[in-house]
Amino acid sequence: MKSGKATKSVSVGKKSDKIFEAGTIGVIGGVGLYEMPGLSDIREVKVKTPFGEPSDPFLVGRMGGRRLAFLARHGRGHRIPPGDINFRANIFGFKLLGTERIFSVSAVGSMREEIHPGDIVLPDQFFDRTAARPRTFFSREIVAHVALAHPVCPVMAGILARVGEEKGFRLHRQGTYICIEGPQFSTRAESDIYRQWGVSVIGMTNLPEARLAREAEICYATVAMVTDYDCWNEREGEVEIEDVIKVMKATIGKAKEMIAGAVPHLPEARNCVCSQALKDAIVTDPKAIPARVKKMLAPILKGVIK
Ligand SMILES: [Zn+2]
Repeated sequence: MKSGKATKSVSVGKKSDKIFEAGTIGVIGGVGLYEMPGLSDIREVKVKTPFGEPSDPFLVGRMGGRRLAFLARHGRGHRIPPGDINFRANIFGFKLLGTERIFSVSAVGSMREEIHPGDIVLPDQFFDRTAARPRTFFSREIVAHVALAHPVCPVMAGILARVGEEKGFRLHRQGTYICIEGPQFSTRAESDIYRQWGVSVIGMTNLPEARLAREAEICYATVAMVTDYDCWNEREGEVEIEDVIKVMKATIGKAKEMIAGAVPHLPEARNCVCSQALKDAIVTDPKAIPARVKKMLAPILKGVIK
């Protein structure tokens, strides 16, 4: 795939900001996915946010008549480990582009015998085992408590499931994704205990994204590609990164096909819970929120606080 040469920089609050287009669809690529095939009219957009720089410039183009923005979660060349990803800048950057829905493509380990390497899982729940990652946009002088009981957009998940099943992929419509800090894989004791907790798959990145996307009222759904059995399955032995990448290469095409297949089915208008997550969630008296905080968070607060 060719990527556009034109790079545009933009700062928050600039009147000349032309990168925003409502209804933009986002894709975050993980291990093995550093650009999005099928995108046309691509340009690179470098975005600055109040939370710093995203992992990489966004690749913005068209797919199926819709505008799509792609971001390599670890940066192209895979430079950024899970614990150092600037998740707030990534999600805020998507917001600045007008993104309303994000597809997250992620490599995961299986925590259940019946979930095989090469399968696709559409997690509907997440469980946090990260250590010290920024978790919110509302950390200074403004307090918000968004609902996160159902962290995945049901509309996106439903469309993805239908598309994947129509294509005949081995697919699991539900599952709990445990998000560990990494970058090391689990110890055997950890893996055994996570299994007792009833989780389905294990990864290192999705929960911070799901949380922040919800705060930014962006729909979020994960296409999880199963690459291995973590380390609990004695028949399979320990997880090695070479095996992960080998299975990933064989499976990545399914994730791309599912996203390309889902995009044309996304309704233009949203009426899911994600789209109104901030309604009634901000508990701080608007008069007590400093103007600079309102300005900093303006792309997220637009329509919620004057
Ligand atoms: Zn939604």
